[in-house]
Amino acid sequence: MPLRWILKGLKRGVLTHDYPKKGRPPEGVAPEVVPEEPVECPFGASTEEGVDPSACLNCGLCGDVERRSTLGDVDVRGELGGSLRRSLHVFFLDVGSCTACNTEVALVKCPYYDSDRLGIFFTPTPKHADVLLVVGAVTEGMRPVLEEAYEAMPEPKAVVAVGTCACSGGPFGDPVSSVVDVDAEAHGCPPHPLTVLEALMGVAGR
Ligand code: SF4
Ligand code: SF4
Repeated sequence: MPLRWILKGLKRGVLTHDYPKKGRPPEGVAPEVVPEEPVECPFGASTEEGVDPSACLNCGLCGDVERRSTLGDVDVRGELGGSLRRSLHVFFLDVGSCTACNTEVALVKCPYYDSDRLGIFFTPTPKHADVLLVVGAVTEGMRPVLEEAYEAMPEPKAVVAVGTCACSGGPFGDPVSSVVDVDAEAHGCPPHPLTVLEALMGVAGR
C-alpha cells in the first residue's frame, strides 16, 4: 500500500499552488450574476472615485461584474521585516463574522495553498504570535477579547484585517481599526485565500 501511494504521488507530481513564484494568478472567485436592473450601491461602497474595495460586499447589486470576478486586493501599511521576514506566527480571531471569511482563512493552511511552505504558521495563543489575523465586524462582546489578544502579543507585532467586515465594518458594525491599529487589509467578501496570503506576506516584508 505505501508503495502504491508513493507511485501515485510521483505520477501526479506537486499539486500545491505555486504562489508567489509566478505572481498573483487572475483566478475568478465569484459567479458572474448580472442583475436585470443594477442599483446604486446600498452600502456606500461605490463613490464617484470608484468602488471602495474595503467596503464592497461583492453582492453584485450594482452590476459591477469585473469587481466581483477578480481576486480581492490588499492594502499593506506596515511591515515587521527583520527576522520575521521569513518566519511568521499568526493568531486567528473572529470578532463577529458570518464565518465565510473563516473558511477562506482555513484554506490558507490546506495542502493546496500550504502557508507552511512560505514560513507562515498558525498558533493557538496570542502569546506566541507576531500577527493578529482578524475577521468580522467588531461586536461589543468581542471588543475586550480583541484588546486582550493584542495586549498579550509580544513586540514587534502586526494586525491584519481580513474581509470587508474587519476592514470597514461593512453594514454590520465597527472595523477592527476602531479598536487596534491595522497594518494590512485583505479585501473581499470573503477574500480569496491567496489574498489573505498576500496580506501576510506584505506585513512580513516580502
Ligand atoms: S458589489 Fe460592492 S459596490 Fe456593488 S452594490 Fe455590492 S457592495 Fe456596492
Ligand atoms: S466580509 Fe463578507 S464573508 Fe467576511 S464575515 Fe463579513 S459578510 Fe462574511
